[in-house]
Amino acid sequence: MAHAKSKPASLLIKGGHVIDPANKIDAVMDVLLRDGGVAEVAAPNKIRASADEKFDARGLIVAPGLIDLHVHLREPGQAYPNTTPVIDSQEWVNWLLQPERGAVVNVFPVAAATHASKGAVLTDFRGLQRAGAVAVTDDGRPILDNDIMRECLRLSGELSIPVVQHAEDTRLTENSPMNDGPTSFRLGLRGWNVSAEAGIVDRDVQLAQQIPNARLHVAHLSAADSLKAVRRGKRNRARVTCEVTPHHFTLSDEAVGDYDTNCKMNPPLRSKPDIESLVAALADGTVDAIATDHAPHASHEKDVEFERAAFGITGLETALGLAITKLHREHHIPLIRIVELFTSGPARVFELRGRGSLARGSHADVTIFDPNKRWTFDVSKSRSLSRNSPFDGRQLTGKVMATIVGGRVVYREE
Ligand SMILES: [Zn+2]
Ligand SMILES: [Zn+2]
Repeated sequence: MAHAKSKPASLLIKGGHVIDPANKIDAVMDVLLRDGGVAEVAAPNKIRASADEKFDARGLIVAPGLIDLHVHLREPGQAYPNTTPVIDSQEWVNWLLQPERGAVVNVFPVAAATHASKGAVLTDFRGLQRAGAVAVTDDGRPILDNDIMRECLRLSGELSIPVVQHAEDTRLTENSPMNDGPTSFRLGLRGWNVSAEAGIVDRDVQLAQQIPNARLHVAHLSAADSLKAVRRGKRNRARVTCEVTPHHFTLSDEAVGDYDTNCKMNPPLRSKPDIESLVAALADGTVDAIATDHAPHASHEKDVEFERAAFGITGLETALGLAITKLHREHHIPLIRIVELFTSGPARVFELRGRGSLARGSHADVTIFDPNKRWTFDVSKSRSLSRNSPFDGRQLTGKVMATIVGGRVVYREE
């Protein structure tokens, strides 16, 4: 980001409909960005300061930069299933935060909670936090041991760093490639029952309620039963948050059809009643963030029998379109709530100061999108190197038209 500072630049975004949930703004406004920060948000044509550049945003939504809490970058190691090695030391956090990596996106590393994510010995949370890690997790290898989880949560309370749990009791899900239900029965596959998720969420929320200031974040929550525990924790004022992925609120396990490996993910796609519960929880505030769990895989890992295929799909390019199509157009959830789930919601979860908001002095990260633009996702034209998406050929409404990071336009739809 050093090179972005070479010349003090300013950018005036004119005539857009600003949706800034953190500041309860939902109106046509102009936005002035200067020197990498938000300088002013004001009624149309009221900003007097001159700007080096202008962006005509008429007809578009201007929102804080979207934040995705859950992305597998596959670096270091360009590797599987998460990063190899896992980010369990300060050196790796520093590597991830090298300035040249921050040019088109901001990366906030999430470090391992236990050494090599083996669930036995805690990493140095304090050191990792000091180096820039915003949370700790053993994603993919859930922390099952009660004492280790209690210790993680105790430290999370002391340091105010969230423990992100991939809630899966792996003792109950061995060799289970999809959700337990009529489709797994028809396909002759062993089912991954929702209780394996809900049981861990329930235990973790109980621990979080007992430990002062403990910070628990439930990753990619997929089942109605898990929401019950999250609601209970929030009611009891425990610091419990959760995220839901676009694929879990869009597709049910029926999408697996005839062994479509692009519908193989962990946690698996669930039942239609689960989707209804997730949509209700996204609307009513129980869910804090939409996160993609973006997980690219090479085709040789997906073009194999269902049971041997890798878990996970890409999701960065379709997330906003799926949210607008499913949550806003089909279920009438207001756009301001959807923007909240992508901006101030996730910023609160990981306590990212100056992000997810267009308050004066915040980072000049802005996403400009067209909520009415209809488009068809074509995986062959994807900017991701991977092709593992179940949404190829899907018609979506709502598309990102420009991305501004640190006051610079880093992406613009032609
Ligand atoms: Zn996971
Ligand atoms: Zn993940």
